[in-house]
Amino acid sequence: MTPITPDRPSILTRQPRENERSAGSPLNQLVRTKIIATVGPACRDEATLRSLVEAGVAVFRLNMAHGSIPEHQESLDCIRRVSAILDRPVGVLTDLAGPKIRLGELPGGAVECVAGAEFRFIRGSETQKSDELVTTYAPLIDEIAVGDSVMLADGTISLVVEERGPDWARCRVVQPGLVRSRQGVNLPGVKLSVPAISQADWQHAEWAASAGADFVSLSFVRSAVEVNLLKELLRTRGSQARVVAKIEKREALDNLESIVEVADAVMVARGDLGVEIDVASMPIVQKQIIRVCQRYQKPVIVATQMLDSMQHSRRPTRAETTDVANAILDGADACMLSGETAIGEHPRLAVEMMRRIASATEQHYLADRRQGLLADRRQGLHDHLSGTRSVVGDPAQEFLPAPEFLMQGLHPITQAVVDGASRIAAELDAKLVVVASKSGVTAIARSKRRGAVPTVGVSDNVATLRQMSLYWGVTPLAADAGSDVNALLEHVTAWGLREGRLIRGDRILLVAGIGFGTGGHNMALVHEV
Ligand code: PEP
Repeated sequence: MTPITPDRPSILTRQPRENERSAGSPLNQLVRTKIIATVGPACRDEATLRSLVEAGVAVFRLNMAHGSIPEHQESLDCIRRVSAILDRPVGVLTDLAGPKIRLGELPGGAVECVAGAEFRFIRGSETQKSDELVTTYAPLIDEIAVGDSVMLADGTISLVVEERGPDWARCRVVQPGLVRSRQGVNLPGVKLSVPAISQADWQHAEWAASAGADFVSLSFVRSAVEVNLLKELLRTRGSQARVVAKIEKREALDNLESIVEVADAVMVARGDLGVEIDVASMPIVQKQIIRVCQRYQKPVIVATQMLDSMQHSRRPTRAETTDVANAILDGADACMLSGETAIGEHPRLAVEMMRRIASATEQHYLADRRQGLLADRRQGLHDHLSGTRSVVGDPAQEFLPAPEFLMQGLHPITQAVVDGASRIAAELDAKLVVVASKSGVTAIARSKRRGAVPTVGVSDNVATLRQMSLYWGVTPLAADAGSDVNALLEHVTAWGLREGRLIRGDRILLVAGIGFGTGGHNMALVHEV
């Protein structure tokens, strides 16, 4: 353990210098939580997409539930152009609609559901009667039972099934409201036979594979089998895309561990989840999902209504800023904007606001952990001087608990070396941990421990670099990860000095693999700039 001497500033005496470095515009500050923005009519032009990347967007979501493939292709091309111009890897997440049930065409386009009124779900895609409802899911009438709830329009309207016939189900309105054609239908707790990946989803997934999407998410996932099905489809099409499981059904919560285990990343899709389960349990369920992701080392995104009022307002509500901060404190790797950027009036302001909240939250969160380390060190120093303890502080104070399960593709040597390097980086107050990564899993391992020292993920694989843009605290940097160690250090140092992330005398930690076929990253090296 490093002795604390007056001539070597220790973390007891030295303030974190990141504050000095990041002084200036808040947009220059390093923010570790990643921001995902949904693309839509409000932002799909090149100038706005560029402005959103400059404001802090790391990943764009293309929502396949809306728009056509040519429209999404245009957005994707635009994102790639912006990324090249700004010389910054930007991820693209293609979000498959999955088995979402929608209402069909209603007479006049909308129907008022009055409390206590009766409606009949009937077969078909259209109805002319104002007390009849049709849906896109043909077997609905066969699969609901008396007593089931039917939620419409994002759960704002609810009905209960009272009677069923061969071609109809009679329901009574419990929670009233106006329902429009094609709005969503949720059947909380009902096990549906609908396939996980519809024909449209297959087509969209094939396009995502051929277009080089970085992530493909599957809506309404119910089991690990469904995640594997999509992974297989992408793999056979030669795609490197990572699969994101959207958790938005009761069945997904029942199978959470097995889904998280096979998924590459997870989304807490609160829009539908908040309809499928009691919305009052949403905050606790969010924490539970994030905790499971932490145990399995899977990046996790918190989505929907994060800054919802900013669709129309220039400022968020207090509750919204608190929601974003709490998601980060819960352990979210990324926070997602939906309507705020897709159809909102202030897409850039919403991104800037999310970034500011993330920055303020992280500063507090990381300082808090550092205080824990300092307090431990003070106690250790006291014990050391009184001869009762020779260990001075435990740098592991800085990290989240070690994951319970080794991630698929992560060698145990790599895990140990990443953990060791993280401890050394904290101990030496290093300024960067540099992780050379072909597939990105080593960067995830580093990211998931939430070390205060920023991480640079170096790769020569463009898909990996774009995927790293999702990982908490990781800045992707293109370089030949296979090049020799000195060349790599020179490359990163030159970049760090240029970007103002390093100054002479700083220490950096390099995690890499050398030589002899262990298959893992077997080296942690300390370098002084
Ligand atoms: C959600 O339901 O929260 C979600 C992200 O999915 P979508 O926006 O596709 O409904």
